[in-house]
This record gives sequence, C-alpha cells and structure tokens, in this order.
Amino acid sequence: MVALVGRPNVGKSTLLNALIGYRLSIVTPRPHTTRHRILGIATRPEGQILYVDTPGLHRGAKHAMNRSLNRAAHQAIAEVDVAVQVVEAGRWGDEDAAVYAALGERAVPRLLAVNKVDDLRDKAQLLPFVAGVVAQHPFDEVYFVSALKRQGLDALEQGILARL
Ligand code: GDP
Ligand code: MG
Repeated sequence: MVALVGRPNVGKSTLLNALIGYRLSIVTPRPHTTRHRILGIATRPEGQILYVDTPGLHRGAKHAMNRSLNRAAHQAIAEVDVAVQVVEAGRWGDEDAAVYAALGERAVPRLLAVNKVDDLRDKAQLLPFVAGVVAQHPFDEVYFVSALKRQGLDALEQGILARL
C-alpha cells in the first residue's frame, strides 16, 4: 500500500494515472476503507501496488496545525508501506512542509517525487533545489519525474516496489 501525498496541483492525479496506466493495470471503481481512499491498483510481475489517498494529508498549512487532524493523518500513514510525497520541481513552500509534517516523525519510508521536471527551464536548479529540501526534510530517496511526459516513472516504481 502506497500513499500518494502532496499539496494541491503538484500533479498527484496525473502521476497516479501515469503510474497506473502506462502498463496493463486495473483502476478500481471507488472502494473505501476507513482511513484510506483507494485510488488504483497497478499489477506488475513483482506484485501489486495499491495506491491510496490519505485524507488529512493534503490540507494547507493552517489546517495541518490542527492536532487531531495531524493525529488522524499520522495513524493512517502508519498503515501504509511507503509514502510518496509529490512536489513541483523548483517549488517548496509552507504547504509542502505541512504535508511533510503531517507524515509524522516515525513514519514509513518516504520517497520524494520531484514532478514537472519538464517544466523547469534551468535544469541546473534541480540539484540545489533538492539539496535545500532534504537538508531540512529528510527523504529516503529522491526521484525526478514528469507525470505529463511520462519520464522517470520506471525508477520511481522500482523504488516503490523495493519497499513493499
Ligand atoms: P493534483 O492536484 O496534485 O492531483 O494535480 P493534477 O494531477 O491535477 O495536476 C495539476 C496540474 O499540473 C494539471 O494542469 C496537470 O496537467 C499539471 N501537471 C501534472 N504533472 C505535470 C508534469 O509532469 N509536467 C507539467 N508540465 N505539468 C504537469
Ligand atoms: Mg488530484
């Protein structure tokens, strides 16, 4: 079970569709669990990846300060095997930090998916950007992707599979 998290507009839905759809896969209708909304299932030779949405992890910084919301999100995230936080290349703001904070301290492995790399004019910005982010917000692994152009998805998926 993989939680796909990130502030609005970073490209979560696009990334999900790319991860689910770019090979043979199944997209579930809308089954619900208490803490997670199942977004889709990717079936691979290595196994199945269940992508879930974790309510409470996509709120803005203001809401993430709410303790009970944080606790609920923290409990929910404890149930997943991997958390993938999606961000926009070159942009890390309060809302991204709030999502990171909501993942909690003793959380599961967390991967950073730096999306929209196709949109970045100056590619030389990428490494300093990531260095700045991970200096304050440690991630277990960083992947550069373009959900739109379907770049970097294999590496991200392998990183996910390696942690299931
Ligand atoms: P969500 O709110 O996080 O689910 O974000 P969406 O998947 O709805 O995407 C928000 C916007 O970003 C849409 O206009 C997408 O087309 C665009 N977008 C998503 N991924 C990429 C990408 O890799 N490159 C570019 N240039 N745009 C993207
Ligand atoms: Mg979306």
